[in-house]
Amino acid sequence: MSRNIDDILNKAFEVLKKYPLCDRCLGRLFAKYGLGLSNAERGRALKTLIAMEIHRKALNSRSLDEVKEELLTIASNSGEPVTTIARNLIGEVKVNKCVVCEDSLNHLIGELTVKVVEALKEYSITSFLIGVEKNSNIELKEKHVFEGLGIDTWESIRREIRREVGKRVQGLLNIPPDFKKPDAVAIINLDKNSVKVVVKPVYIYGRYLKLGRNISQRWWFTREGTKRYPLSIEGVAEKVRTLFKADGINIHAAGREDVDVRMMGNGRPIVIEVLNPKIRGVNLNIVNETLKEEPWVSIKIEGYADLSLVREIKQSKKPKTYRAIIYSDKPFTNEDLLRIFTALNNCEIRQRTPKRILKRKKDVLRTRKVYSVNGKLLNDHVAELILKCESGLYVKELITGDEGRTTPSVASLLGREVSVLFLDVLDYPLT
Ligand SMILES: [Zn+2]
Repeated sequence: MSRNIDDILNKAFEVLKKYPLCDRCLGRLFAKYGLGLSNAERGRALKTLIAMEIHRKALNSRSLDEVKEELLTIASNSGEPVTTIARNLIGEVKVNKCVVCEDSLNHLIGELTVKVVEALKEYSITSFLIGVEKNSNIELKEKHVFEGLGIDTWESIRREIRREVGKRVQGLLNIPPDFKKPDAVAIINLDKNSVKVVVKPVYIYGRYLKLGRNISQRWWFTREGTKRYPLSIEGVAEKVRTLFKADGINIHAAGREDVDVRMMGNGRPIVIEVLNPKIRGVNLNIVNETLKEEPWVSIKIEGYADLSLVREIKQSKKPKTYRAIIYSDKPFTNEDLLRIFTALNNCEIRQRTPKRILKRKKDVLRTRKVYSVNGKLLNDHVAELILKCESGLYVKELITGDEGRTTPSVASLLGREVSVLFLDVLDYPLT
C-alpha cells in the first residue's frame, strides 16, 4: 500500500526504469487512487511529475552526465512529456512501445466502442452492460508484468476497457448501463477484436386452450425427423417470433395434458420465452391478433413476465377439473355411478407409474387425491364423469385401473373393464 504521494511517485519511477508503459497502462497501476480520474490522466500526471523531478535533478547536478542515463531510460520508456525534457537536454530519444498494450489501448477502446455501438444498434434495448472475456493475450501479458512489480493498487485492463467502452457507448446510444439486469450484454473478445451481443429473453405470459385433439404441447418428432402431429402449442407460439424479430422461442407451461386431451375453460398457464429478440415491448394486442389466427389452439397473452414466473408456473400444483367420457361393454346402471361417486369422493388413489409411460419414467408408487366426482349416464354404455383431482393424478388410469397399477379405479370398483373415450381438462384455476 502506498503511504504518500512520494511513495507513488517513487514506484512509478522504478516501474518506468524497468518497463515502457503508455499513460493508460501506467495510470492503471495506481487505479485505486484518484476517484473519477481516468487512467490516462493518472499516468500523464505521474509522467509530468517525473519529468519535473528529472529536470530538478539535472539542474542540481554538477554535470548532465550524472542524470543522462536515467533520463534516457525514463524518456524512452515513458514518452511525453519526459521526452521534451530529454530533447532539450540531450537530444532526440527513441521511444519504446508500451510493454502491455504496444500503445494500442487508446485506439482499441475507440475501435471497440464503434463495434459495440454497431452491434447494439440492432436491438431495441433500454439498458446494456459491457463484458470482456477473460484470459486474452493482452490480459495475460499485463498480469505477467504487473504482478512482478509488487504494487497492489492496479486494476485489470479488462476492467478499464469495460468501463471506458461502457462510458462511450452510454453517451453515443443514450441508454444507461445496468449492472444487475441489463437488456443486452455486449461481450468483447480482445484476441479476436470482436463483439457479440447476448440479449435477455423477453417473457410473455398467458393461457392456452386446446380445442381439438391430437395436438402436442411441444413439437413431437419421430425418429425419422417428421412431426408426429401436425399441430402443437409450441408451433402456434412460434408465430410471435417474427413480431419480436427473434431467433426462436421456448414455451414453459404449468404441466401438460396428453396429446389426445383437450384443454378447456380458462386454459392452462403458459410463458413464451422469446430468444434473442431484436425488438422488445411489442404491443400485446398485436401479439394476440397474430396468435388468434389458429382455430384449434388459442393462446391469449396477458402480459410481460420475467424468469421468476417461469419457475412459479412450473412448480404450480393446482387441482384440476376433468371431464371423462367412459365406456363399458356391459351397460352402466345408476347404481354403478353411485358406487363410483361414493367410493371416489375425497379418496386417495395409489398409482404406480402408468404402463404407457414406463419407457420414459421410473416405476414409482405415488398417492394423489380425487377431491370430488359426479356425472351422468349418456347412454347404456357411455357415461360422463366430472372429476376434480389433485395435480399429478393420472386420470386415464384412474378410470381403467391400468391392470391393477392404479387402485382404487372406476374399473376395480365396478369389477369390469372400463375405457376412456374422451378426456378434457375443464378447468385450471385462475388463482
Ligand atoms: Zn499501454
